[in-house]
Amino acid sequence: MSNDAQTSTLTDGFHLVIDALKLNGISNIYGLPGIPVTDLTRMMQAEGMRVISFRHEANAGNAAAIAGFMNGAKGVPGVCLTVSAPGFLNALVALANATTNCWPMILISGSSEREIVDLSQGDYEEMDQLAIAKPLCKAAFRVLNAEDIGVGIARAIRAAVSGRPGGVYLDLPAKLFSQTMDAAAGKASLIKVVDPAPRQIPAPESIARALNLLKGAKKPLILLGKGAAYAQADADIQALVEKTGIPYLPMSMAKGILPDTHPQSAAAARSFVLPEADVVLLIGARLNWLLSHGKGKTWGGKDHKDWGGQKFIQIDIASTEFDSNVRIDAPIAGDIGSCVSALLAGVGNSWAKPPAEWTNAINDKKSKNIAKMAETLAKDPKPMNFHSALNVVRDIFKAHPDTLLVNEGANALDFTRSIVDMYKPRKRLDVGTWGVMGIGMGFAVAAAVESNQRVVAVCGDSAFGFSGMEVETIARYNLPVCVVIFNNNGVYRGTDVNPTGGADVAPTVFVKDARYEKLMEAFGGVGVYAQTSAELRKGIEDALKSGKPTLINAIIDETAGTESGRITSLNPAAAIKK
Ligand code: ADP
Repeated sequence: MSNDAQTSTLTDGFHLVIDALKLNGISNIYGLPGIPVTDLTRMMQAEGMRVISFRHEANAGNAAAIAGFMNGAKGVPGVCLTVSAPGFLNALVALANATTNCWPMILISGSSEREIVDLSQGDYEEMDQLAIAKPLCKAAFRVLNAEDIGVGIARAIRAAVSGRPGGVYLDLPAKLFSQTMDAAAGKASLIKVVDPAPRQIPAPESIARALNLLKGAKKPLILLGKGAAYAQADADIQALVEKTGIPYLPMSMAKGILPDTHPQSAAAARSFVLPEADVVLLIGARLNWLLSHGKGKTWGGKDHKDWGGQKFIQIDIASTEFDSNVRIDAPIAGDIGSCVSALLAGVGNSWAKPPAEWTNAINDKKSKNIAKMAETLAKDPKPMNFHSALNVVRDIFKAHPDTLLVNEGANALDFTRSIVDMYKPRKRLDVGTWGVMGIGMGFAVAAAVESNQRVVAVCGDSAFGFSGMEVETIARYNLPVCVVIFNNNGVYRGTDVNPTGGADVAPTVFVKDARYEKLMEAFGGVGVYAQTSAELRKGIEDALKSGKPTLINAIIDETAGTESGRITSLNPAAAIKK
């Protein structure tokens, strides 16, 4: 037999990994090449996969995490690929963040030789990566033999997307890639995962209990969380809200499941409805810190530990979520699609709408708050403040509702969330459960790659700094991303001074009037320096028209920010003043 004929009957670890991923519909890889995965990235591209190569693994990881949010309900997790030890560690923040947010992501990292690692003999980039990853994700696996690659990838996919989704680590030691085996046996060893995210049908009695509770409510409220957006059960969720006539509040990444302009949205009366509601139906939203743990003043309690008296119905795929903070009177365990459709069937066509007293009171509050906000938005100061700049972004999303919005920062996050309306589901991608900084450019890249739509990333100047070098990645792949930096010269704002009078600036202050737009110009994209709302408007409109990678440096009044945005209260205050 000639050498060629001999090799053609063989396959190897590289190709088995690629074939297993492709077999399961995974075609986009977010990563960074290097030992031992450089050739893997080349071969992936040669085999028709899209390999998006980043400048830092943290950003590749964030891209994979948000790809998981966008596609997980279809059974496809986001995948990040890194080198061993340092590259692996760089991606761990994203893996942990994906797990915290319940997004399916697989981190695949090359690793060094087990024999040497286990004896601590000092290999190149030696590290027991599996042990380190384990506490930060939902599951972690290592594959040592080529014939187990199919099982390893199948287990990783199932663990990521089934049940409560989350991050999975897959450890592939360098030696695995060049292991060979018979090609036919290799092909037979691969697994196409059947029904990777199986439906979990709720118990009929849990539905009946919930409907009973909801029926007796005088002031019902529906709370939609990002789990509801993730589940892609949009039509049924809309129907449930509309058939029951119950006012609803969207959490930030649930904005757009119903258009924010929907008459039943109570978003503009949030601080009124939370303490007033008597029965609250949570759909894919946890009663964590973002909802003040379901108690305290936000909910009408006397102090932060005091329960406001609401009854809760909660739909979640993870039963362990129930009672995590307050009593859940009607838990519904199951996937959101199945649970909502079961509720809908019980609601039927003759559900009595909530008392007009309740909905009128909400509408009163809403119209007052909306009118107040309209007054603020109508002002056009120079320099711009957050409101005047976001008034522009708000108009743009109204005119271009298919555009995706990536959003990070402190003030840049809080103001954007409340000012910019979303009209379609899964268009708003933000800092999630941790309020993490640094997701901006990674999310923007994946948003463009996964959706084929235009992306606008609204970032505070501080938040942008965590992933700013990926502007080169955006330019290199010619992605239709328009980055808008709200530049107020620092963290929160740019006015702090060094109390000692020394030469160092205050820890929260950056270079004044930094020309961020030149970063994008350096890589061949479009840079815009916007000092007025008209310049900002033109910059974004041009970017959406051309689809060219664009960075707009929007100059915001440096006194405009608030410490920590809306979560100032989480800052511990010094007990002793010196
Ligand atoms: P938010 O921050 O928007 O309030 P959370 O991340 O706190 O949302 O809550 C999302 C919840 O949704 C999690 O508890 C998660 O278990 C749940 N979840 C995610 N996907 C599904 C699904 N397909 N079906 C049911 N529950 C889901």
